[in-house]
Amino acid sequence: MAVHTINLIYLVSATLFMLGIKYLSSPRTAKMGNLLSMIGMAAAIGATLATPGIHGFTLIIIGVVIGTLIGGYAAIKVKMTAMPEMVALFNGCGGAASALVALAEFQGNSTGFDSFTLLTLLLSLIIGGLTFTGSVMAYAKLQGMVSTRPVTYPGQQVFNGVIVLATVALSWFLFQDPGNILVLSSITVLSLGLGVLAVLPIGGADMPVIICLLNAYSGLAVSMTGFALSNNALIITGSLVGASGIFLTKIMCDAMNRSLANVLFSAFGKVDKSLAATGEIPAGTMKGYEVEDVATILANAGSLIIVPGYGMAAAQAQHATRELADYLGEQGVEVRYAIHPVAGRMPGHMNVLLAEADVPYEQLFAMDDINDDFAATDVVLVIGANDVVNPAAKTNPSSPIYGMPVLDVEKARTVIVLKRSLNVGFAGIENELFSMDNTRMLFGDARASLQKLLAALKK
Ligand code: NDP
Repeated sequence: MAVHTINLIYLVSATLFMLGIKYLSSPRTAKMGNLLSMIGMAAAIGATLATPGIHGFTLIIIGVVIGTLIGGYAAIKVKMTAMPEMVALFNGCGGAASALVALAEFQGNSTGFDSFTLLTLLLSLIIGGLTFTGSVMAYAKLQGMVSTRPVTYPGQQVFNGVIVLATVALSWFLFQDPGNILVLSSITVLSLGLGVLAVLPIGGADMPVIICLLNAYSGLAVSMTGFALSNNALIITGSLVGASGIFLTKIMCDAMNRSLANVLFSAFGKVDKSLAATGEIPAGTMKGYEVEDVATILANAGSLIIVPGYGMAAAQAQHATRELADYLGEQGVEVRYAIHPVAGRMPGHMNVLLAEADVPYEQLFAMDDINDDFAATDVVLVIGANDVVNPAAKTNPSSPIYGMPVLDVEKARTVIVLKRSLNVGFAGIENELFSMDNTRMLFGDARASLQKLLAALKK
C-alpha cells in the first residue's frame, strides 16, 4: 500500500481515537466511544500490516490471534471491581511492547542510529521497562499478592535517586557506544528495577492513581517508539494515551485534595495510630438500628438521597440499591443519587456500577450539583461510603483528608449509614458522622441490608 494511503488511514484512526475518548466521557455514549476506538485500532493495525517491507506474517497472525483471545476473554470475564487490575496489566503490556521493540532495534542496528533515534529508543526502553514492572507491581498489590501497605525503609528515596542517576549515566555511555550490550543490558535491568522500587512505597488504595500515571507513561513510551520507527500512528496514539493519562491523574489528585508528589512519596495508607485517633467517635453516642426501624424511616420519607461508596462496590449491591430506590420511587419518595468524584476505587466507579444496574441517568447528581440540597432532604442513605462523607474534611485541620471536598450529608434530617462495622475507609481515619445525633447505623453487608430493607418495606 502506498505510504500516503497508509498515513491517511492513520489520520482517520487518530480521529476515531479522539472521538472515542470524547464519547467515553459519559456513560450514555461510552459504548459508541469504545466501538469507534476499536474501529480506529483495527484500521491502524491493517494499515501497518500493509506497509511495504513488513514480513513474517505467520508470526504476526499468531500474535494477533493470541492477543485477541486473551484481551477478549479478559474483557468479558473481568468484574467491574477488578477493572483497575486489568488496566494495570494492559498498561504493563504496552510498556513491555515498547521496551521490546527498542531492544529489537538495538539488536538489529547497533551503529547506524542518529542521535534523535538513539534518544527516542532509549526513552522507549527505559519508560517502557519501568512501566512494565511498575504495572505488574500495582497489579500484585491490588490482588493482595504483595503487601498493600506502603513498603518503606530508611534512605529509600535516596536509593531510588541513585538508581535514576545510574540509568542516566549509563544512557550517556550508550550514546558513546550504541553497540555495547553490557551497558544496554544494565540500563534494561535498572529500568525494570525502578518500576518495582517506585511502586513499593505506595499504598494499595492509591494504586488507581498510580495506574493512571503508569498509563500516561505507557503512552509516552509508545510515542517514543513511534518517533524511533517513524510511525505516525504510534506517535499520535501514544501522545493521546500519555496526555489523557496525565489529565486523569491530575483530576484524581485534585478530587482527593492531594498533590501527585504526596501520592508518590508520602506512603499514604501506612498504619498510623495517631492519625486514626483524629475525630474519635465519642463512646456511647452511636445509634445502631434494626432493619424494621430503618424501613419505617424510609417509608415516611418524602425525599431521599442515596450516597454510594466503595462498600457498595465491594458488596456488589448496585442492583439491590436500584431495586430499593425503584420501590421507594413507586411509593412517591423523591429519589436521587449523589456521586462523589472519588467514591470507590477508580474514576467513575459509582457511575459504572449504577449504569450496570440501569439506574436512570437523570437520578444521578455530581457532588457540586447536589451538595446544597442535603439540608432540605428528609433522609440520606449512605451505602458503604466513608471518607467521602466524613465531616472532618471540613472541620478538622489535622485530619489527613482536611480540604478534600465531601458530601454534606450530615445536613439532612436523618442519615442512615449501611456498613459492616465501624471500620475506617481508605484514608484510615474515624468518621464522626457515625455518632452524630441525626445518624442511624445499620450494620451488615450492604447488599444483604438492602435486600432485608426492601423485604421489610414490602411487608
Ligand atoms: P471508603 O474507602 O472511605 O469507605 C468504604 C467503606 O465501605 C468502609 O468503611 C467499609 O466499612 C465499607 N464496606 C466495605 N465492604 C462493605 C460491604 N460489603 N458492605 C457494606 N459496607 C462495606 O470509601 P469511599 O467511597 O467513601 O471513599 C473512597 C476513598 O478512596 C477516598 O478516600 C478516595 O480518596 C480514595 N480513592 C479513590 C479513588 C477513585 O478513583 N475513586 C482512587 C484512589 C483512592 P466496613 O468495613 O465497616 O464495612
